[in-house]
Amino acid sequence: MAPLDLSDIATKAVSATVEVFTERGVGSGFIVQPAGLVVTAQHVVEHDGQVQRHVKVRLNAGTINDVVLDGTVFRAHRQLDFALLWLEEGGPFPWLPLGTPKSLRFAQTVLAIGCPSGLSNTVSAGIVSNPAQRYRQIECIQTNADIDHGNSGGPLIAEGGVVGINVWGLGNISAAKFAIPIDYLTEDLHTAAQLGRTACLQATFCPACGHNDQHGGLWFCRNCGFQFPSEEPANDA
Ligand SMILES: [Zn+2]
Repeated sequence: MAPLDLSDIATKAVSATVEVFTERGVGSGFIVQPAGLVVTAQHVVEHDGQVQRHVKVRLNAGTINDVVLDGTVFRAHRQLDFALLWLEEGGPFPWLPLGTPKSLRFAQTVLAIGCPSGLSNTVSAGIVSNPAQRYRQIECIQTNADIDHGNSGGPLIAEGGVVGINVWGLGNISAAKFAIPIDYLTEDLHTAAQLGRTACLQATFCPACGHNDQHGGLWFCRNCGFQFPSEEPANDA
């Protein structure tokens, strides 16, 4: 079997990895669709218990093509710690294909990409410590790939594509970094790609639970019951 060219895989993946800015700080994310569908972590875009609707997204950080675009969050999930957003203009964008987390094996090589402490395009390599580790009541991918705060929301890459979202680390245990398997988002990603940017952003978005409701114009969330503030309609696309 030909040796895995990690450098080749990383170079492609870096071009589809982005930085996600809110008023609170910066995290990472990655593009999964050429029209500008971006995956990040829910805790990157949450502030005081509510998901921020509008964020800034930097592409090609540190290169001549460095650009900051507006992004709009349209779906989030607190327990699974993922959020989805659309870039509001431009494209086609470089994007990452989805891999298959279920085929990961113990000690398989993986790459984490993100911007720890704001250091753009930082790639770290590691192995799968456990492909199906139970943590926070979720079956996660456990690795020893070095990740830190700004890595949150960035991709975990294995041969074939992105297998997870880097979200948590357990204290200072180096072999206890956790990624949410990309499988948990597959349905949401398919729906978003089918609907397209305009339809996703016209839907009612609940900042409390992250639910995306295609019935626009509601004053409450049909998922969690949250009442949208009247002076700032949730349906602001
Ligand atoms: Zn809700």
